[in-house]
Amino acid sequence: MSKEEWLKKGFIDEPIDKSIDLKKAINELRKEKNAVILAHYYQQGDLQDIADYVGDSLALAQWAAKTTADIIVLCGVHFMGETAKVICPDKKVLVPDLNAGCSLADSCPADRFVQFVKEHSEYTVISYVNTTAAVKAVTDIVVTSTNACQIVESFPKDEKIIFGPDRNLGNYINSITNRNMLLWDGACHVHEQFSVEKIVELKKQYPNAVILAHPECKSVVLKLADVVGSTATLLKYAVKSDKNEFIVATESGIIHEMRKQCPQKTFIPAPPNDSTCACNECNFMRLNTLEKLYNCLKYEFPTIEVDEKIAKEAVKPIKKMLEISRRLGL
Ligand code: SF4
Repeated sequence: MSKEEWLKKGFIDEPIDKSIDLKKAINELRKEKNAVILAHYYQQGDLQDIADYVGDSLALAQWAAKTTADIIVLCGVHFMGETAKVICPDKKVLVPDLNAGCSLADSCPADRFVQFVKEHSEYTVISYVNTTAAVKAVTDIVVTSTNACQIVESFPKDEKIIFGPDRNLGNYINSITNRNMLLWDGACHVHEQFSVEKIVELKKQYPNAVILAHPECKSVVLKLADVVGSTATLLKYAVKSDKNEFIVATESGIIHEMRKQCPQKTFIPAPPNDSTCACNECNFMRLNTLEKLYNCLKYEFPTIEVDEKIAKEAVKPIKKMLEISRRLGL
């Protein structure tokens, strides 16, 4: 198949010889090409297990910023690859499947956001990392769910702020920091789906369980939660807690690492609204597979490309975030 055909598909579907030990082959390619594999907590377990580093969006950006590898393979979604590329323009950044998008990033098209920012020129623009590079390019500072509250708090109380694109995270930050940021009306299709009724039902079954929730969930879900935080925060809490049962209201991929670090504890994925499935998976995240990772390392394709002008602007608010996070010890 030609590169153009691969590009149309968004990934390489070259058949892989069944006799190949994929993990061994990926390890050899990684060494031979001086590549680093970064995986998000929402990736499927085998990708998390083979990665050099597994983390949340903040950690992925921090590792990208300090790697000496020539190639970064980002097992995550497109905007994460873009962030790595913007931070490291001279490196080759690969994602196993270019179709791995993000409903939250899609809920904030750059042209509409640029217009919105123009209409509110006196506002400081804070964008969640789950945005395209073009949105970051008109942003003053990027945040992740790990550092969002602290970064917002670093601005004076009367600062006029636009926060985009996640309205749930924005509402949560407003409630914690006692602000009234102007919110973009976007959301993540996974976190919006958690069912209050089903979580209440689960809590009846597991009365001692701690409810952990990501701030991208709706406020009605957050009200039920004992702990609200980023994936990294929820993981840390579960590890340190003396409790043994946890109901987890975020993408269920994080449970892989929770079970690895706390094999003796019980983690129950919070169910979505109208599904027969017991957990809540991001269909974009799950597009990446071990086979696609192998092919993308072997052929060094598909690569993430970001327009030079956009990258030059987008890197500024990302670097600001990295610098503040460093100062805050995050
Ligand atoms: S879980 Fe939601 S926010 Fe995260 S990548 Fe998937 S669609 Fe985007």
